[in-house]
Amino acid sequence: MMEEIVAALAALKQATDIAKGINALNVDFEVKTKTSELLSVIIDLQHSMLELQGRFGDLQGENEELKSEVSRLRLSASARDTLQFKEKMYWKEGDSVPFCPVCLENEQKQIHLTGPHREEDLMYFHCEVCGNNIFK
Ligand SMILES: [Zn+2]
Repeated sequence: MMEEIVAALAALKQATDIAKGINALNVDFEVKTKTSELLSVIIDLQHSMLELQGRFGDLQGENEELKSEVSRLRLSASARDTLQFKEKMYWKEGDSVPFCPVCLENEQKQIHLTGPHREEDLMYFHCEVCGNNIFK
């Protein structure tokens, strides 16, 4: 779509040059008047096209944001469906490694924890992404 707008702007530029070329020729007054009218219409079209180009750019950006929001929400919905919250961590059926509750709840990211680590009589899992320790 952006390519088409750029092509249309290039065509309008060409049309402007042609109309200016006609105006520069030794033609009668009526031809010059009509050519000037044509030029003014072409200039209006160029302005509309430039506005359209700007608006299209805005919409493209908005669309990208919405796409990433949709995929984030899909991921979070599927995470909710397949993960179970037990012992302060998220677990997936058939997966013996738990997921970080901080990353999942804040960022909707499924990050496997490392561990269990032991420190004296404490046992905990660690998240390499957010750095949190989850003690059992
Ligand atoms: Zn984390």
